[in-house]
Amino acid sequence: MCGIVTLVGDEARHMLNVLRMKKGDRVILIDGSGTELTAVISETFAARDGRECEVHLTVEGARVCDAEPNVKVTLFQCLPKAGKMELIIQKCVELGVSAIRPVHSRRCVVKPERNENKLLRYEKVSQEASKQCGRATCAKVYPPAELEECGFSDFDLLLIAYEGEEKLSLKQALMEAKAGILANKDQPRIALLIGPEGGFEQEEIDRLMENCPNARSVSLGKRILRTETAGMAMLAMLMYELEE
Ligand code: SAH
Repeated sequence: MCGIVTLVGDEARHMLNVLRMKKGDRVILIDGSGTELTAVISETFAARDGRECEVHLTVEGARVCDAEPNVKVTLFQCLPKAGKMELIIQKCVELGVSAIRPVHSRRCVVKPERNENKLLRYEKVSQEASKQCGRATCAKVYPPAELEECGFSDFDLLLIAYEGEEKLSLKQALMEAKAGILANKDQPRIALLIGPEGGFEQEEIDRLMENCPNARSVSLGKRILRTETAGMAMLAMLMYELEE
């Protein structure tokens, strides 16, 4: 595959002013769709006379990025207190999440808001994390939804991290799913649900279990994790069991 790619804006500035890249340098370009392009810088233009800097690259090859997990995980994260969402997005992208949806549940102290700037900021955090860890796709961050409106039945499996779960461990649930619901599924779609700082109400869990036949309420172990730790821990454990 051949072609010319022109970079402007933040990416061009970063390449020229921070990474000090020059004509002839080789780079890997990612377009967010799962393909990696190998390219060589053919021309650079520094910012001048009100014009932005620009980098021209010649594409030499394309390949499918192998940093993508076969399992497609969406993290449904109940709204945490200020500032934690960015950390959660960054770490969960590194751990292989495909999408993240903030969720409003009964014990959330933060109100859901449709703030375009915040969403753009979250997308940027996701993009930066993808780039840093060598993923060629960018995890989508959705606007917040109410717990009852998350569309959990679209998934092959919903794993609810519930601090009050005494019987089923995440490991057991995954082993059973591997032998059952997920057997022979090429790219299983799994939803993870994490409660807010105040946890879930038993009634919320009961209702989810009633409405969604593929839901399992699971324990993450003997210790209670903070909401921002729970998603990362759960994702790491899930990838360990399911990633090929
Ligand atoms: N305030 C609650 C704890 C909430 S922890 C209490 O004191 O009981 C925040 C969220 O992280 C929980 O709702 C749950 O989704 C997840 N979580 C934390 N530790 C967990 C564990 N050991 N097992 C299952 N889920 C856990």
